[in-house]
Amino acid sequence: MQLILMGAPGAGKGTQAAKLVKKFSIPQISTGDMFRAAVKEGTELGKQAKACMDAGKLVPDEVTIGIVRERLVKDDCKNGFILDGFPRTVEQADALTKILDDLGKKLSRVLNIHVPSEDLIERAVGRRICKNCGATYHVKFHPPKSDTCDECGGQLYQRADDNVETMTNRLSVYEASTRPLIDYYKRAGIYTEIDGRQPIDKVTEDLVNVLTSVKD
Ligand code: ADP
Ligand code: ADP
Ligand code: ZN
Repeated sequence: MQLILMGAPGAGKGTQAAKLVKKFSIPQISTGDMFRAAVKEGTELGKQAKACMDAGKLVPDEVTIGIVRERLVKDDCKNGFILDGFPRTVEQADALTKILDDLGKKLSRVLNIHVPSEDLIERAVGRRICKNCGATYHVKFHPPKSDTCDECGGQLYQRADDNVETMTNRLSVYEASTRPLIDYYKRAGIYTEIDGRQPIDKVTEDLVNVLTSVKD
């Protein structure tokens, strides 16, 4: 199954991708996670990505497309994958079609987790992530049982870009560059919208219901 999880920043893509990974045993490919790993390692890619991420702007298309292309040819993607946070522009979507064509694959479904924009800043600002395993929490909507990770006891941190100012920029970038992908994938006939305001487990249930009827 070749899936795209779409949604504005803070809509719940990462949270849901982690659940779908367990359920369907296919990898999650998060461009945001890949960029954060590069920033941590201090690579050239990391330096370039950091400047964009701190400003709430997109990393240039050619850079982003390049890392996704390298990732999708890996062995663990042969039975499918869940793209989380890619594509975010029409140029990226066109490039993805081309990459999949070359691999003899096509997209199975594009799932858009829809959350109204007025909820998104609160979601991002309250987000906390485990340094060790990447599990995602929210101070109000999905609090950890203590002040460490429920799964592994790791320390929780707040992303540098999860502040009101950067989120405001990220949301306008979403409106201008990413929202047009909704019509793009509607036209392709593979688009489904899910109500992301529901509790986390209900969103997962809706996603799984859609995916059980997806053949490949
Ligand atoms: P994205 O990957 O789309 O940016 P995340 O999955 O990281 O979003 O979720 C953003 C924040 O919102 C996190 O703190 C997460 O715990 C919280 N969250 C995710 N899904 C829900 C939900 N259905 N209801 C309330 N809060 C949620
Ligand atoms: P969120 O789901 O909260 O928007 P991500 O972790 O997906 O956050 O992305 C964080 C940042 O990484 C983005 O604001 C952007 O700077 C960069 N990024 C992630 N994915 C892409 C992409 N597909 N194209 C360009 N930049 C990206
Ligand atoms: Zn953890």
